[in-house]
Amino acid sequence: MIIVLEPNAPEKAIKELIVEVKKQGLDVHRSDGEAYTILGLVGDTSKVKEAPILSNEWVHNLVRIQEPYKRVNKAFKPDPTIIDVAGHKIGGDEIVIMAGPCSVEGREAMIEQAIAVKKAGAHFLRAGAYKPRSSPYSFQGLGKEGIEYMLEAKKETGLPIVTEIMSIGTLDEFRDVDIIQVGARNMQNFALLKALGKADKPILLKRGLSSTIEEWLMSAEYIMAEGNPNVILCERGIRTFENYTRNTLDVSAVPMVKRLSHLPIIVDPSHAAGLWWMVSSLSKASIAAGADGLLLEVHPDPAHALSDGAQTIKPKHFEELMTEMDKIARVMGRYIN
Ligand code: PEP
Ligand code: MN
Repeated sequence: MIIVLEPNAPEKAIKELIVEVKKQGLDVHRSDGEAYTILGLVGDTSKVKEAPILSNEWVHNLVRIQEPYKRVNKAFKPDPTIIDVAGHKIGGDEIVIMAGPCSVEGREAMIEQAIAVKKAGAHFLRAGAYKPRSSPYSFQGLGKEGIEYMLEAKKETGLPIVTEIMSIGTLDEFRDVDIIQVGARNMQNFALLKALGKADKPILLKRGLSSTIEEWLMSAEYIMAEGNPNVILCERGIRTFENYTRNTLDVSAVPMVKRLSHLPIIVDPSHAAGLWWMVSSLSKASIAAGADGLLLEVHPDPAHALSDGAQTIKPKHFEELMTEMDKIARVMGRYIN
C-alpha cells in the first residue's frame, strides 16, 4: 500500500501521519521526490483502516498494490487448495461434476433423479431444498423434508450431496450434507458466511448476481477468517446488459480466480445461460478455461420441473455431455472419472 502526499505537505504533517500508520502495526518506507513524498506501507495491509489516512488533508492518494484479502490470496498460499469430499479431490486433476434438478420435488422423484445422474456419471447430487425464488408465489422448496429426501437418495446411490442454505437457523439440518451451498443471493450475507466459517463442512460459494471478483473473494475471506479453509468458488453468471441469456457467464473469472487465489473454482452454466441448449457449449468452455468442476441442472422432464426447467438438460443429454467434457478435460491434462 502506498500513500502519496500532497505536494509541499509540511514536515510536521508527514511525521504525524507516519506515527498514525505505525500505530496500525505497519512499517513505513519514506521516499521524497521532487514534488511528491511517498510512504510505502510494509506489513499486513489487509487490516489497514483507510479512513484515518484518506481523511488526512495532506494525503493526495492511497493506492493498494496488494489485494484486501489474505487467506484467499495465492500470494500467501501458492499451492492450490485441494478439497477432498467423499474421495473426490476438488481442485486436483479430476474435474468434479455435480448434477441434479434445480429443486427437490419429492421423495420418489429425488431418488429416481439421483439414480439417473449417477448412471450418467455424476460425482455429486445437487438439488435445492430451500429455494431462493424471485417471486414469493413460486415454489419455495420442500425445506427440511427436501434435505431428508436428498439423504435418502445419497443412501440409495452413494452420491454425496450439495444443497443450498438460506438462513443460519437451519444449519443443524445440514449435518449430513457433504457440501453446503451459499447461493448468489446470499453471497454477501455476512452473518451467514461467519456462521459457515465455524462449520466443519466445505462451502460452495456462488458469485453474487452483480458482484465483482474482489467482492466474491472477500466473501470467501469471511468464511476462511472464521477458521473454515474449505471454500469452493462457483461462477454462475453475472447480470449484464445482455438479455438473450439469463445472465452472462463470466468465463474469464476462471483464469482470474486461478491467478488471484489458491481456492478451487467450478462453473454453473445452467444459471448463467438460462437456456438448456447452451449448457453443453458453456460447460466445455469452462473446462477449457481451467474450471475444477461443474454444477449442472439435470431433470428427466424439464418441461414439468418445479423450477428452472428452461435451463435444465435431460439425463441422456447429460450423459453425452459427460463424454465430450472428458475429451476436453484430457486436452487440459485432466480427466473426468
Ligand atoms: C441454485 O443453484 O439452485 C441456485 C439458486 O443458483 P444461484 O444462487 O446461482 O441463482
Ligand atoms: Mn435453479
